[in-house]
Amino acid sequence: MQATWYVNGTFYTAKEVFANGRMLVNASGTIEYIGTDDSARAIAADEAVVDLQGGTVLPGMIDVHLHGGGGHYIMNPTYEDIDGVSRHYAAHGTTSFLATTAPVKDNRKLLSALENISSAMDQGVGGADILGVHLEGPFINPLRKGAMKVEDLRRVSLSEMQEYIDASGGTIRLVTMAPEIEDGYELARYLVERGITASIGHSDATYDEVAEAVRSGSTHTTHHFNGMRPLHHREPGVAGAGLMFPELTIELIADGIHVHPAVAKLMYDVKSEWNVCVITDAVQYAGLADGEYDDVTVKSGKIHLTGTDTLAGSSLTMIQALRNVLAFTGYSLDKVIPSFCLVPARQAGAAERKGSLETGKDADFILVSDELALVSTYVRGKLVFSR
Ligand SMILES: [Zn+2]
Repeated sequence: MQATWYVNGTFYTAKEVFANGRMLVNASGTIEYIGTDDSARAIAADEAVVDLQGGTVLPGMIDVHLHGGGGHYIMNPTYEDIDGVSRHYAAHGTTSFLATTAPVKDNRKLLSALENISSAMDQGVGGADILGVHLEGPFINPLRKGAMKVEDLRRVSLSEMQEYIDASGGTIRLVTMAPEIEDGYELARYLVERGITASIGHSDATYDEVAEAVRSGSTHTTHHFNGMRPLHHREPGVAGAGLMFPELTIELIADGIHVHPAVAKLMYDVKSEWNVCVITDAVQYAGLADGEYDDVTVKSGKIHLTGTDTLAGSSLTMIQALRNVLAFTGYSLDKVIPSFCLVPARQAGAAERKGSLETGKDADFILVSDELALVSTYVRGKLVFSR
């Protein structure tokens, strides 16, 4: 790859905005310079130049809760499934993600899914980068299982947790768990000691139990308001506690279905853009035509367990989530941007190289139109999607 200048653009770095800015991406796909035109060094003869013609550049978006899309499923143990998810979402503004697993009764299936994700990471994928694994369950509370099946859930076992870590080749970055179940706090401490984010989710924890989980090192909640004890004024539950504890970053499925638009705005008002982590929770049926697939029904963007009101994940994309959050909150683009890139990078333990457009970081960025339609996606300086 040739070192390339992107000039004459408006760059949102996640920390500041450079109008009339430029960015130099070196041959290894790292940002070597970003700033305004008049402070930049001269362009060398062997460097390419791309004129953005006043276009807008945003940091690539990072999805820490993604199960599948376009018919590709993270739990299927094939390279094609993992690569398919990576390519599908690169076409929707995502430049990296955590491959998110689901519990299954036959534990060998989860182990082989983890081995497969790890080997796909070694091999490299064609679209968005894989930052590692988000293990959603199996150590969750059956009372808040959502679309999961009771027989797929397990009692906490640290040795089983270690088996998952080993099968994943040490790539697990975030674990959704219920701290209040037997040995739950111990599990949270075990994860945090190993540099893994402990997330409270599919949990019936009370306010006091969340406080204990925070003391045990938990720093995140999974698809906030969904799959958790709701806010009651005499028992704030996980939903209330997540809003109140500054240690907790809370995930938002910003589709306007899983969380009402007014509540999405409340989350930003209470937590700020630095503690809201926008996710899709998209499933393999996302991006498919309306119809019945396996045990779910897809209809106008909503995915339910067939014959029930239970939501079974979303068909949201990060670029649509960005447009939604702007509409729900009325806030400006530069204000909400961190919750799509730097916050998820931090929660996935990848903020030194991902999440913002800064010197020394990977050149993961997207070009968007004035209406925030995606024009193109770059991962480590390489064009992986263009409209
Ligand atoms: Zn879930």
